[in-house]
Amino acid sequence: MDLFEYQGKQYFARYGIPVSPGGTADTVDEAVAQADRAGYPVVIKAQVQVGGRGKAGGVKLATNADEARLHASNILGLDIKGHVVRRLWIERASDIAKEYYASFTLDRGAKAYLAMVSARGGVEIETVAEEDPDAIARLHIDPAVGLTEADARRLVTEAGIDREAVDGAIGILLNLYRCYVEGDADLVEINPLILTPDGRVHALDAKVTLDDNAAFRHPEWDDFRDIDEFDERERLARSKGLQYVGLDGYVGIIANGAGLAMSTCDVVNQVGGSPANFLDIGGGANAEVMANALEVISSDHKVRAIFINIFGGITRGEEVANGIVTALGRVDIKIPMVIRLDGTNAEEGREILARVESDTVISAPTMLDAARKAVALADPATPQGSF
Ligand code: GDP
Ligand code: MN
Repeated sequence: MDLFEYQGKQYFARYGIPVSPGGTADTVDEAVAQADRAGYPVVIKAQVQVGGRGKAGGVKLATNADEARLHASNILGLDIKGHVVRRLWIERASDIAKEYYASFTLDRGAKAYLAMVSARGGVEIETVAEEDPDAIARLHIDPAVGLTEADARRLVTEAGIDREAVDGAIGILLNLYRCYVEGDADLVEINPLILTPDGRVHALDAKVTLDDNAAFRHPEWDDFRDIDEFDERERLARSKGLQYVGLDGYVGIIANGAGLAMSTCDVVNQVGGSPANFLDIGGGANAEVMANALEVISSDHKVRAIFINIFGGITRGEEVANGIVTALGRVDIKIPMVIRLDGTNAEEGREILARVESDTVISAPTMLDAARKAVALADPATPQGSF
C-alpha cells in the first residue's frame, strides 16, 4: 500500500523523524483555514501518489491568505500524470539551504536492504543515477545485523553531506531505518531531506510503501486506507474481503485465481468488449463468496453483463456449480450472465448449472465462447436470447 505524503509524514513522525506540522484540506476554504492556522508563509501541496508534483504545479508557496486561496483552487482538481488532486497538505514553509536524498528499500537480487543517500536531493533519484551515479552513496544492509551508527556515518560522509548536517542526517537515517523495518515498509524515501539555514535537518517530503503482507499486525493501517479508496465499488469489495479492482468497462468479471481473472479481462478485450473490473474470488468459489462477488458487481451501474469464469481445481466442478446456484438464489441479479466452468468434474458442474439456465443465465464451455456471448449480451443492440 502506497501512502500519501501527509500519511507518510505521520508515519515518519512516529519514529522521531522531524517533519513540518500541517494539515489536510479537501476544499479551498479548508485550505485557507489550514494555512491561517499554520502561519505564513505556507507550502500547499497536491496529495497524489506520483512523484514530480513540484514540476507539475502541484507544490506552491503562499505568503498570505489570498495566495493560499489562489493556489489551493488551482491545485485541487489538477491532473498530475493521470492522478486528479482531491486533497491538499498545507504546512509551514521551510527555508532551504540544501536539499539531500535518503531512502531504504529492498534489493531482492542482493537479498539485503539497500540504503541510498545523496547530497543531490530535490531531483528525481533516477535522474541523479543516470547523470551522476557517483553522487549516490549506497550500502547493502544485512537484515540480521541492521544499520549501525557507523554505517549511517559512512553513508552520510560518502554522499558528501555538508558538515553542519552530518549529525542530523545520521540521526534521521537511524530513525528512518527503524521506520522501514519496524514499520514494515517496502520503501521509505525522503526527497528532499533538507538542511535549513539555521542548521536543522528535516524531511520535506515523504514516500512510504507499506508491505501489505504485514497488514495483519498493523490494525492502525486501516486509518490509511479510507481515503486511498475513492471508488465506491472498491470500498464495498474490500468490506467483503474480495480481491477487486474497478475498471472502466461494462462487462463484470468474476474468476477464481488472479491469473485467470487477468486472462479473463484480456479475452473480453480481445473480443471487442471492455471489462468493468478485475475480481479474483480465490480457489474455493463457495456460495458465500460468489454471492458477495455478484453483489459487488451488480452494484456497478455500468455493468451490462457478467462473465463468471471458474476453473475447478481442488474445488471440484459440482461444488463450484452448487455454490453458483445457491448464490443466484440469494442475490437478485437482473443483469445477464455467462458462466464458463471447466476443470475437475466440469461435466458434473455443467449439469447442475443447466438447471438454472435461462435467456439471461447462459453456460458456455470455453473461455473465448463465453467472452463473446458476454460481450454480445452487454451490447444493447443485440436482441436478448439470440444465441
Ligand atoms: P515532489 O515534486 O512531488 O517530489 O514534491 P516535493 O514535496 O519534493 O516538493 C518539490 C519541491 O518543492 C522541493 O524539492 C522543494 O524545492 C520545494 N518545496 C517543498 N516544500 C518547500 C518548503 O517548505 N519551502 C521551500 N522553499 N520549498 C519547498
Ligand atoms: Mn519529493
